[in-house]
Amino acid sequence: MQNINRYNSASEYYKKIFHKRVQKISIDAGFTCPNRDGTKGRGGCTYCNNNTFKPFYCSPEKSITQQLTEGISFFSKKYNAMEYLAYFQAYSNTYGNTEKIIKKYEEALSVEKVIGLVIATRPDCVDEQLLDYLADLSKTKFVLIEFGVESTKNKTLEIINRKHTFEDSVKALKLTHQKKIMTGIHLIIGLPEETDAEIINHAVEISKLDFTFLKLHQLQIIKNTPMATDYLANPSKYRLFKIDEYIDLVVKFIENLSPKITLERFTSESPEELLIAPKWGRIKNFEIVHKIEKRLSDLDTCQGKFFNA
Ligand code: SF4
Repeated sequence: MQNINRYNSASEYYKKIFHKRVQKISIDAGFTCPNRDGTKGRGGCTYCNNNTFKPFYCSPEKSITQQLTEGISFFSKKYNAMEYLAYFQAYSNTYGNTEKIIKKYEEALSVEKVIGLVIATRPDCVDEQLLDYLADLSKTKFVLIEFGVESTKNKTLEIINRKHTFEDSVKALKLTHQKKIMTGIHLIIGLPEETDAEIINHAVEISKLDFTFLKLHQLQIIKNTPMATDYLANPSKYRLFKIDEYIDLVVKFIENLSPKITLERFTSESPEELLIAPKWGRIKNFEIVHKIEKRLSDLDTCQGKFFNA
């Protein structure tokens, strides 16, 4: 119960709006992204390997319906009385022909017990026509767009080859907010050359923006990425956190974060076989959440303690 008073947690938020357990089902709907298809670049972001978050049912060779049906069957054995959100997670899920994109969303929504969409994308892949459709849809369904912001520093975004700027993120969030669509953002903690002060300053910068959910995760070096090649050649360029260091930094980050933001995730747990570093053992995300909550409690601190409106 420590989290209720010390930070806004997404699980509490979802409980309040849904009054029941709701599970996201990740799907790969066959999207690509402009940083892979040559529109902006071909190599992708240096850390990116979309295989890190693909459960067994998630594959573009299967239809969206099949992926969702298999995912629902898997989770319904674990928990009763559940409804589901189709999580368009792999690649940039607002990128491409608008009509085709809408068909994919509608296929997902036609699956029984799917009550809404979570759509992950890049901030430079927003199209007004698609946003208008999603604004309309959000009047009757749960709709959340998650933008990969990753850093508020353009120098960092260049180093990781994101091929968009922080200003693109600000613009996308403003436009989506104007359309009254719920949004979340994603940041990576520990990107190359960022100091602790710069990381904490991300909290200050994003607190100026309008969005609902924040996901954080520690930088991970994943096999088969440009970052892995660079890391193996130049490991000293990378500062990878030990768990306790990471927890201390996240606590400082939370203290500087606006109390209006809801925290959805603090860490990422990539499959052992794909992870090069940092190796945190078999610790689970929820155990790290407990450690963060305990640290907040031990320090008698909370989200927004040092936030300056
Ligand atoms: S992280 Fe997203 S935007 Fe970057 S290469 Fe991967 S899919 Fe594309």
